[in-house]
Amino acid sequence: MKLTAETPVQFLKGVGPRRAEQFARMGVRTVEDLLYHVPHRYIDATTVTPIARATVGKEVTVVGTVVSKGVLPTRRLRIFRAILKDASGVIECAWPGQAFLDRTIHVGQRLLVTGQVKHYHGRQIVPKEQIVLDEAAEVAEWQGGSGTAGGEEGVVLPVYPATEGLSHRMIRKVIREHLDAMLGTVEDVLPVELRRAAGVVTLREAFERLHRPQGMIADHERGAWEAGRRRLAFDELLDLQLVVARARHLAKHARRGMRFENRRELTTALKEALPFTLTAGQKRAIREVTDDMTSPTRMHRLLMGDVGSGKTVVALFAMLLAAENGAQAALMAPTELLAEQHAATLTELLKPLGITPELLLGRMTPAEKEAARERIRTGGARLVVGTHALIQETTEFHRLGLVVIDEQHRFGVEQRAALMAKGEAPDVLLLSATPIPRTLALTLYGDLDISVLRDKPAGRSPIKTGVRSSAHRAQIYGFLRDQCAAGRQAYIVYPVIDESEQTDLKAATRMAAELAKSLAPATVGLVHGRMKAAERDAVMRKFRDGALDVLVATTVIEVGIDIPNATVMVIEHPERFGLAQLHQLRGRVGRGAAESHCILLSDAHGARARLQRFARTADGFKIAELDLKERGMGELTGARQSGGVTLRFVDFERDEDLIRVARADARAILEGDPALTASAHRPIRQRIERRYERGVELFRVG
Ligand code: ADP
Ligand code: MG
Repeated sequence: MKLTAETPVQFLKGVGPRRAEQFARMGVRTVEDLLYHVPHRYIDATTVTPIARATVGKEVTVVGTVVSKGVLPTRRLRIFRAILKDASGVIECAWPGQAFLDRTIHVGQRLLVTGQVKHYHGRQIVPKEQIVLDEAAEVAEWQGGSGTAGGEEGVVLPVYPATEGLSHRMIRKVIREHLDAMLGTVEDVLPVELRRAAGVVTLREAFERLHRPQGMIADHERGAWEAGRRRLAFDELLDLQLVVARARHLAKHARRGMRFENRRELTTALKEALPFTLTAGQKRAIREVTDDMTSPTRMHRLLMGDVGSGKTVVALFAMLLAAENGAQAALMAPTELLAEQHAATLTELLKPLGITPELLLGRMTPAEKEAARERIRTGGARLVVGTHALIQETTEFHRLGLVVIDEQHRFGVEQRAALMAKGEAPDVLLLSATPIPRTLALTLYGDLDISVLRDKPAGRSPIKTGVRSSAHRAQIYGFLRDQCAAGRQAYIVYPVIDESEQTDLKAATRMAAELAKSLAPATVGLVHGRMKAAERDAVMRKFRDGALDVLVATTVIEVGIDIPNATVMVIEHPERFGLAQLHQLRGRVGRGAAESHCILLSDAHGARARLQRFARTADGFKIAELDLKERGMGELTGARQSGGVTLRFVDFERDEDLIRVARADARAILEGDPALTASAHRPIRQRIERRYERGVELFRVG
């Protein structure tokens, strides 16, 4: 059979319907998908630690022979344990709750495990990943016969992302068997001159290097496959830059229904009535927004700033500018609670101006909603705040001139577009509380202009962040009791890895009950991801209104929530969170004038230095950089989904040069061929249309 890129993997020898289904679970359906299913790591002798040198607190990869094994039943969990031995020594590995491994791991097998070394009756590894290694002979064969028999020396082992029922080993076998045939299907759509100028290898060579790595790992972490990764990264960046440059062009030049003038009526009135002075960042952002709104092209701007940096006020100036031009402005928030909070803030700030914002929420009664919609339809409501209710069909605007979207990443592309479609090419201001470094912003949001709020409003005391171990638990509870007695409130965040896991939820529930006892007379509430939105909102409201002193939360909900009276944030197992996530959590306190505290409660010795670094850094943009460094190519939560673009291969630390080249290439290409219709570019357009949600819409001709 002649393979093509579209051939379903099911037709490959060794893959039947069942395996095909398992592949599909990982998004692999065709030969092309399988080529793009590249190893997530490579292992060779330089990355493996001799067992004797696996010290407590370090994360290691060791290879050893299973010398004994068994299942240990404990009161709560059945634990699978195995003893591994190499030439240097032995170590115990333990897999809590994974007794089923007893069926696949056997004495005499060679096992590779990666994980943290802990101290538990001696050294112990709790593996994050384990691989049953093939016979050395098979490994040698993989290397085209060049492997040194009997050891890992000189051997590079690609490790593939696997899924339940489809092991890493199985995937490797399928790919090894079909790699040459699959490589024959690869067509490179990148024009040769561009490829040479960017200094990247051909697509075919890229796949070969990634799937059939040769030679030792040169600098202890990067090998020959690095050139392969860079090529795939360049493709992603070029497509992305083409998409954003095109989007920017279309958005800017869309004919606008109205043109605003800076009348300085309502905006000036607000400036004079504000109970505080604007920060330098806010002033700059307001100027940038005003320039956009009064220019003939359409505003398409992202306002980025840490929680509490004061984005709402900036948005309000923009809304008033629209209003004083006889247009309506709408602010959409992802939850009812946030919408209510915005409405409350605006109401307060607008009092001196005699304007009341209109609120539209799903939970209002049908009669209330109808009345609000009537005022929106007739134009009686000039400033409107709401949730998804704003984009429902029954909501019509009289003359919508500005759309503001809070926590923009929480909305899908269509939802944002739906609100914009309620007006005639209204100006758009997106708000984001997830600061990201500049290179990344240029990449992900290339179609937006960006304003940044880096400074905090005056009068906020910095949040004192400390790292503590459970030895301090009693002391911390004492501190919480004192704070509550003094009228303050606290959050306690408990990470739940999988909200669908009953055991994890039980742990959080038990924790809340225990805290209620330990912290009495303070009152304790609990919110978790499995609660209905309405229930969760009800608990959050009680906390906001002061009816609860302590809120135990399992998920990162309502990042934007503003409860100035909450001054303590305790985070359990902070080592399980990314730094950016920790920063988001910390941002929920420190919103009033009182001193605030963030306590990271961790017993993970290996994570100490990292947590300390976090504790010392208050700037969200710096933390975003650290976070990016830490995760490397890892997923960029939130930011990643924006624009429906995925970046799997880009490494923002290493690829700055590629980002620059891709940006310049994309601009040059579109200048001469704006809709990518030339024959040299058509294959690129087709690839974009296949891969990106927005591709088809953006490059539609005519
Ligand atoms: P975020 O950027 O998280 O959306 P908000 O806009 O909700 O922040 O602002 C947080 C709080 O700070 C609000 O109560 C707001 O009124 C207040 N605030 C905003 N700007 C200033 C300022 N320049 N000085 C003092 N307080 C401010
Ligand atoms: Mg906000």
